[in-house]
Amino acid sequence: MSSGKYHGPVLKNRRTLLERAEKFISNIYFTDCNLRGRLYGESCPVELESFLSPKRIPFSEAFKQNFTPYKVGETFGPTWYTCWFKVSLNIPPSWRSKEVHLLWESDGEGMVWRDGQPVQGLTKEGEKTSYVLSGALQDDEPHSLLLFVEVACNGLFGAGQGSMIAAPDPNRRFSVQKAELVVFRRDVQELLTDFEMMVDIVKELGEQDQRGFQALFTVNEMVNLCEPSDPGTFPRARSLASAFFTQRNGQSQHTVHAMGHCHIDSAWLWPYEETIRKCGRSWVTVIRLMEKNPEFIFTCSQAQQFEWVKSWYPGLYAEIQHFVKKGQFIPVGGTWVEMDGNLPSGESMVRQFLEGQRFFNQEFGIYCKEFWLPDTFGYSAQLPQIMQGSGISNFLTQKLSWNLVNTFPHNTFFWEGLDGSKVLTHFPPGNSYEMKGKVEDLIKTVRNNKDKGRANHSAALFGFGDGGGGPTQLMLDRLQRVQDTDGLPRVRLSSPDSLFSELRSDSELLCTWSGELFLELHNGTYTTQAQIKRGNRQCETLLHDVEVCSCLALSRDQSFKYPEKRLKELWRLLLLNQFHDVIPGSCIELVVEDALRYYEEIQGSGSKLLQNALTALSSGGRSDAVFNPLSWERQEVVNVQGSGFALVQVPSVGLAPVKPTEPLSPVSVTVQADGTVLMDNGILRAVVNKDGSLASLCLVSSGREALLDGCEGNRFVLFDDVPLYWDAWDVMDYHLQTRRPVVDLVDQTRVLTSDQLRATVRFSLRISDRSSITQDIIMDANCPYLKFNTQVEWRESHKFLKVEFPVSVHSPRASYEIQFGHLDRPTHRNTSWDWARFEVWGHKWADLSEHNFGVALLNDCKYGYSVHKNTLTLSLLRAPKAPDANADMGTHQFTYAVMPHSGSFQDASVIRCAYNLNYPLRPAQCPPQAGPWSAFSVSSPAVVLETVKQAEDLTQALVVRLYESHGSSVTSALRTSLPVKEAWHCDLLERKDPDRPATLTPQGITLHFKPFQIVSLLLVL
Ligand SMILES: [Zn+2]
Repeated sequence: MSSGKYHGPVLKNRRTLLERAEKFISNIYFTDCNLRGRLYGESCPVELESFLSPKRIPFSEAFKQNFTPYKVGETFGPTWYTCWFKVSLNIPPSWRSKEVHLLWESDGEGMVWRDGQPVQGLTKEGEKTSYVLSGALQDDEPHSLLLFVEVACNGLFGAGQGSMIAAPDPNRRFSVQKAELVVFRRDVQELLTDFEMMVDIVKELGEQDQRGFQALFTVNEMVNLCEPSDPGTFPRARSLASAFFTQRNGQSQHTVHAMGHCHIDSAWLWPYEETIRKCGRSWVTVIRLMEKNPEFIFTCSQAQQFEWVKSWYPGLYAEIQHFVKKGQFIPVGGTWVEMDGNLPSGESMVRQFLEGQRFFNQEFGIYCKEFWLPDTFGYSAQLPQIMQGSGISNFLTQKLSWNLVNTFPHNTFFWEGLDGSKVLTHFPPGNSYEMKGKVEDLIKTVRNNKDKGRANHSAALFGFGDGGGGPTQLMLDRLQRVQDTDGLPRVRLSSPDSLFSELRSDSELLCTWSGELFLELHNGTYTTQAQIKRGNRQCETLLHDVEVCSCLALSRDQSFKYPEKRLKELWRLLLLNQFHDVIPGSCIELVVEDALRYYEEIQGSGSKLLQNALTALSSGGRSDAVFNPLSWERQEVVNVQGSGFALVQVPSVGLAPVKPTEPLSPVSVTVQADGTVLMDNGILRAVVNKDGSLASLCLVSSGREALLDGCEGNRFVLFDDVPLYWDAWDVMDYHLQTRRPVVDLVDQTRVLTSDQLRATVRFSLRISDRSSITQDIIMDANCPYLKFNTQVEWRESHKFLKVEFPVSVHSPRASYEIQFGHLDRPTHRNTSWDWARFEVWGHKWADLSEHNFGVALLNDCKYGYSVHKNTLTLSLLRAPKAPDANADMGTHQFTYAVMPHSGSFQDASVIRCAYNLNYPLRPAQCPPQAGPWSAFSVSSPAVVLETVKQAEDLTQALVVRLYESHGSSVTSALRTSLPVKEAWHCDLLERKDPDRPATLTPQGITLHFKPFQIVSLLLVL
């Protein structure tokens, strides 16, 4: 034997040395003689009984059931059932001082219960198959135990048939493959981890790196020194590894802030109810790790999930509270759920933060300082302002690394929003939120970092994710070994706070990215699951109206009680459905059913609340009236029950009796000799072809034709829609080459209504032998847009239905409404950044304008748009088959409208018209002699009063939220007829700014706005 450090001069073949070390720890090869084969010592069987439940039931119910004997290997199921196991175990006394585990391998996710409490999550796919019964068995420890294991009949990623995102297999069978007591050899495990890290260093540093060869020779010598059957040989091998790991870096080395994390989709390939258990399983495991590793920090987002655990696992929640106090279990993100970053309305985004931050504050006495949204399909340009208004100035995500076309140029940068608000933003350069603490993760974090030289700190989030799981002891052990190892980045078990503090303290060289963070992928999610999109929009408007109307009712009826508790519950349901796999439509059918049921609940309950408030507003009167929830005066045609159409005028945020007025110009509808139909209301003149397309759309005042010469408007088009993999998520650029107009006529255009206040024509088209469209084109008196009420029977497979309006407008950019504002995107395809946006999102309207003329396309529940050259296109329906095999099949109703205008879209009131389309005047009642009444008005047409609600903490105060919608700096007065005693500026969390009282004058409260600025006020009554 050599007397030096090594067994003589080392051999020269890198490959054989490396593979030799790999085989020494392989769990496939040579386990009869290698180190891995020694991980477990003796074993001993356990006694199992089982009980199968179709429902997810609490432990208190489960343990009382009738259990019958179960043999390992027997199958149970089907999918989504739960099999409870009673596990009787007797640890042999001869295992004294040994580490004893219950080894459990099942293909369903498991939870161990002991003395009625959840104690350990077990998930084979998440590398958690052990419940530690004793670290070193003592005689006075219990040797006979009764445990329960709750096994869900689904895996970490649900139960996809064949592939992960395929629709779930409803008949999948599950089994327990292993359930036994074992002696766990901690010394073998520690040495295995040393070996694994050394082998990975050799592989990751490669042949160019001197340090990689040092690792190679070291690990080879470790094999020489180590005799698997003789633990006495382990310490020498371990000290060789330790000597390598503790050779330290120079001062300039990059620091990786490793944070434990467990991304749990609030619903995705499994229903909401299963997520509750995923949280329980994942987080109880985190608590066990924290008990053993006091330096371990875990970041945990989504207030909703905390709330679930609080009500379903109060014991576990108490443990979590303990570790939150200790600073190890860190609530992050500040939102109710990790919501979609595009589709929720501005107010919904605010409520995500309001509900989230308030929850974290109430439960843990903290406000999150960072927004945490690693997995969402794009990020609205208004998020920086909304974050700042919610007490948040840091942002972490990584999803833009999924871009299909362009590589985003930064990992650490300032993100500047629509109004100029900036937040410090970090994309973990490893491009993952579920790393495993491996050498590869650390190297990637440094190598991929696009801000080298600008920022010397990065985050690495480790822990199994998406379906839960979270970190493991092995991940912590890996990271612990290489905290400061020459050749690898420094590793610090860290928190978001400490990462962002480091980044901020040295941010002079950081670049700024302005505007939205657009994800060049998953662009089908603006359209998939149309019923969910519709539910979201309708519930957003309904809750808006309930709040406005209830605030008004408070001031008119002393006995009225603001329904704060119920409204909070309904808002939370709506916010939950905005989760980043629900509102995008990328979830399984079970989730869609849950989501639609929640919308029904919001609509049912919300309508009752609205009715209560309207009744309170009526002052006991029974005459017909209308309620206008919006902050401008409206004159619109309404259909009054029993007495037909009426043109009514209602003041802003107010009530008016139905007093029919004569239209400036009556609507006319004429069938012309060639079968086309001419509709005219003095503002618009439209010619509708027999097939429902528009032959002409003329803006009467200017005589200007809105449609492109020789083209028809309102043209339905069908595309083949077969993405590369992510079915419900993706529409690819090549789909545009498969455009096919829908022209097959079933019923030609005929006049349905001919009234001086309203004209309606109807036609039907055949899409295929299974699918069809019936549409009513509606022209109202005094209305500047033409409405298309559409019904589609939709039974397609991988098709995409859109409607096109080729218009006589030439402009390099189009405008799209987003949260509290709008932004421009190109209409050309010059650069890769331009053409990658072939399908984009917008809210209630998009507009294509040249100087002094333009055409806007409005909608009441759609989000997908594209404007290319002269053509405005609205995306209507998709037909993906995974993960929901029946996505979007059935009957759909939606409305869109086209609005040609002169001047700019701002001056032409496009924004207000889009609101009007979405917030119909509500039928109400008032005393016979009552006149019109307005609660609020705003003097500037650029300013929208978006929200009126009761303040969260003060029943005698309201919160109003306004924003500047034109992109201009304006001064505006907010007037109110409510008895306001004092007014204060407040932030989005409704925290009063004591330095900024708002002055009340007879002219109202004067407010100054910068472009797209959001202003919130606290009005004390
Ligand atoms: Zn996710």
